[in-house]
Amino acid sequence: MSYWRRHLFLHPETAEQQPLVASSACLLGEPVRHDGGHKQQDHFEQLLLPHLQLQAICPEVSIGLGVPRPTLKVIDADFGPRVVQVLDPNEDVTDALLDYADSTMRKIGRFWPLTAYIFKARSPSCGVDTTPVNPDTPLQHHGSGAFAGRVRRSAPWLPLYEEEDLQTESACAELILLCFICRDILWQGGNWDGGRGLAHYSRLLGELSVPSPDRMPLWEAVRARLSALGKDGRGELVEQYRVL
Ligand code: SF4
Repeated sequence: MSYWRRHLFLHPETAEQQPLVASSACLLGEPVRHDGGHKQQDHFEQLLLPHLQLQAICPEVSIGLGVPRPTLKVIDADFGPRVVQVLDPNEDVTDALLDYADSTMRKIGRFWPLTAYIFKARSPSCGVDTTPVNPDTPLQHHGSGAFAGRVRRSAPWLPLYEEEDLQTESACAELILLCFICRDILWQGGNWDGGRGLAHYSRLLGELSVPSPDRMPLWEAVRARLSALGKDGRGELVEQYRVL
């Protein structure tokens, strides 16, 4: 085992496998969009695939909408936003998307150790704060897709990205590093020792300001610390992980 595996991880065994990251399937080139197309991000193959396991998920296909299918939009309704067909707003798929999100997120744990999720921006199912709500009306604003919004509520600690956040090598490097750290922490399961983890990653990343020893603040602190390090500092850290 390399020097870095022994010294960078609380659980060196977690470095043996690539961290697991879910992704909107269309971003990985799967032809699942409403028109049978995709939105493949070519640079993911070069920058992310050597380090991460990317698992493709298309919630609209998974709830049985098929390809091709009618386009969807998000509208405000009395009891919250709804995802409906553009041409027939009576066709409402919100509940199916929410149920699918619930069943997906119930799997997270040691046997589905998800460390991050990459979503397609602006999608009525997958967008994270970028989806047009009430599009093309005076009441338009932005919100999240039904599936992505439910994932965020179910697992507020899970780092969420859209493909537009990952357009530079530096941003991809930050994601890789965060996923390795998340995997290391997730491995601890119910035995999470926040103090030990904090001390470990504080040594690695410099001082981390964390108010309580549970996972979510630590991950937020790690992410904030990575941002504060700037491009050069992040690059140096990621290089350490790359030689694992
Ligand atoms: S944005 Fe989401 S729902 Fe739409 S095609 Fe891509 S994976 Fe499927």
